[in-house]
Amino acid sequence: MTSINTVYRDLRKTIPVLTFARKREVKDYLKLYNIDLATGEYRCKICGEIIKEENDVGILINDGNSISLVCNKKSCMERANFLKIYETL
Ligand SMILES: [Zn+2]
Repeated sequence: MTSINTVYRDLRKTIPVLTFARKREVKDYLKLYNIDLATGEYRCKICGEIIKEENDVGILINDGNSISLVCNKKSCMERANFLKIYETL
């Protein structure tokens, strides 16, 4: 049987340190990292849909090297929240 600790240990190997911005900080982060959603070049890290508007950004992830966006769909947010839980362990 695989324990939850083993799962997290394996995750730790593959997932870099993640930082989540709060919703109200999204705008500032987009500006800070020079992300222009209007270009249509940014996709949700989880479902792959293009994120074109600030309001569609659910979570912004900074892994230390690059910025990833997660859209605000419930299913995507829940998957991203799992990673957030992982980080606090
Ligand atoms: Zn999504």
